[in-house]
Amino acid sequence: MSTRIESGISTQLNPNTTNLSSAGQNQQIQSVGQQVQQVLFGKPKPVILDPAKFPQVAEQLKLLRKYKKKIANMADDDEHDYELALTQSAIAMIDAQGTIYMGVEFLMANKENPEIILGALAHEIGHQPKRWKEYQQQHLLTKEEMQLICRHEETRADLFAGSALAELGLSCEPMIQFLKDIEEGPHPEYFPAQTRGEVIREAHQSRNYRAKNRRKIFPNFDRMTSVKGHLGEF
Ligand SMILES: [Zn+2]
Repeated sequence: MSTRIESGISTQLNPNTTNLSSAGQNQQIQSVGQQVQQVLFGKPKPVILDPAKFPQVAEQLKLLRKYKKKIANMADDDEHDYELALTQSAIAMIDAQGTIYMGVEFLMANKENPEIILGALAHEIGHQPKRWKEYQQQHLLTKEEMQLICRHEETRADLFAGSALAELGLSCEPMIQFLKDIEEGPHPEYFPAQTRGEVIREAHQSRNYRAKNRRKIFPNFDRMTSVKGHLGEF
């Protein structure tokens, strides 16, 4: 049975603890971008843990730090647009300032699956919270409109995660299975895990195809710029 935590956090990989309670409550009309930012990225922040006290996830944090820049660059962002924080509660979430919160239990449980950990990182970076500031239009969104935007936003983040995993030469299947495993039932802000899996797989395949062709046509380009290249830079 699904128990939804009403003070939950949106945009996290796990849809089961999100809510729209703050949507539309503020009668003062804000820009569309502000309203979306508030719902997607403005939830209470989880308690940040000191990584030094959690040596059991040191390897996973190292992995996240190592790939943050590469994945941020794939999104045309700077590595400094995103900070990493270790937390007890969320699986993975991002706030409006670009701080990405990674749950210690999530990292422990997926020690053997770097694809899932990096897929979660890519999903969060794929949200690019800062870009919502560009939506200056003044219009109070209804709950339905907000849910539509949330589903669209989650799909965007999933598409980016699929592409990023392909670009890193990693499979997307563990992440798809992970999303299926954590699904507890229908959620208005997310498509079902089955659909999310198809979206991720399609983005992954399409990027894989392009990456392969690029290697064929510009063999040296890839050697110089690939994440797996000698320079180690994307
Ligand atoms: Zn998300």
